[in-house]
Amino acid sequence: MFAAFDDTDSTESMCTTFLATELVKALRVYDLIGLPRLVRLNPAVPWKTRGNGALCVRFGVGRGQGQMVGEIDGIPIYSYERMYEEADRTTVLETAERIVQKWSRTTEGASPGLVVSEGKPAQRLYWEAVRGIVEKEDTLRELQKIGADIVGWEGGRGIIGASAAMAWRPHDRTYEIITYRSPDRWGTPRHLEDGSVRDMDLKYTTTFNNYDHRTDRRAISPHTNCPVLFGVRGDDPTELMNAVFSLRSETPARWLMFLSNQGTDDHLISAEPTLPDRSYDFKATVAEAPRTIAGGHVIVPVSISTGRLEAAAYEPTKEFRELVRALRPGDRVRLFGELRAEPRTLNIEKMQVISTVIERQKVSNPRCPECGGSTKSMGSGGGYRCKKCGHRNELEAESVEVPRTIVPGWYEPPVCARRHLGKPLKRMRS
Ligand SMILES: [Zn+2]
Repeated sequence: MFAAFDDTDSTESMCTTFLATELVKALRVYDLIGLPRLVRLNPAVPWKTRGNGALCVRFGVGRGQGQMVGEIDGIPIYSYERMYEEADRTTVLETAERIVQKWSRTTEGASPGLVVSEGKPAQRLYWEAVRGIVEKEDTLRELQKIGADIVGWEGGRGIIGASAAMAWRPHDRTYEIITYRSPDRWGTPRHLEDGSVRDMDLKYTTTFNNYDHRTDRRAISPHTNCPVLFGVRGDDPTELMNAVFSLRSETPARWLMFLSNQGTDDHLISAEPTLPDRSYDFKATVAEAPRTIAGGHVIVPVSISTGRLEAAAYEPTKEFRELVRALRPGDRVRLFGELRAEPRTLNIEKMQVISTVIERQKVSNPRCPECGGSTKSMGSGGGYRCKKCGHRNELEAESVEVPRTIVPGWYEPPVCARRHLGKPLKRMRS
């Protein structure tokens, strides 16, 4: 029996994944079938909460060998690949309803939705919700087809995300282990040794987005008062567990492993940007030299087949801006990012420099071919005239090649400025 929920937390607090641990604890008479799923949805939707992540957990009676995938308040949690028997629908529905009701932040703007179903809705609900914007009516029609139970609070916008999480059939996937603090520690400073995060990042190479080695800052723990202690992401469940247990921190009250679409680039549409609030992967030619605007953002105008587009590396992307600033007209690039509505700008999340032009800098006007005297420019397209004998020529100004500071290759912002869904370059090698 699948139970999925979304939009339970406001931008201020909580974390939908904590509700998943509450649900798993409350339904511990059952086993987890597969891993709980943490599914990130279109990061560009205007009403997103902090991370725009939806949760889906499947309950039943497991068959075969179980794997320990978490521990909640001293209770080990096991997951099974196969199911012997389905969980009771009413039990799952009533328990999930009680927990979502209890932990949602509806007074802070959350609009929770809960969906319970034995079967999954059509896969397109996932793709539309991760790449575009889904209408609730459309979701409700699909849920009706599979006979799902639906509960919504404060408008129930979360039903859309919950259904999308349930509809996900992974083609690429990653894992995240999230650890949680005991309630008496919520809101107090987190005890986690930065050095152990750095060492973990270097040693366990299948983990990603943990640590910014340039600024010596960890990226695995939130800065809010939420129950999360830290979350570590990776490609290999066994190595991920070893990585997490290598960290030196306060003792977590809970931990749970999630299957996730984080770091997969599932949100990218392979096409030139058209509609705003969506993210694209496309090729372009740099049209003008980049410029820096107020706030430290770097704007680079590019050409695509439909015309001009301004692409931006915003201030939070830090040193990535230097790379964008190094682009020159004529450079071929492949850009990945979200198209914003107003101003219509593409927010660069990652780029591949395909080819660079040779940049030349004028050093002097050409010498007169008749007498060797110095010349004077006659204006744009007018050539040069000799200051000594008056002869006019159409020669090029003398120039030198300027070394380029960017070479063809892949570039991404630092760990702290990455999207949940963005595929880190270290995952793209495989
Ligand atoms: Zn001359």
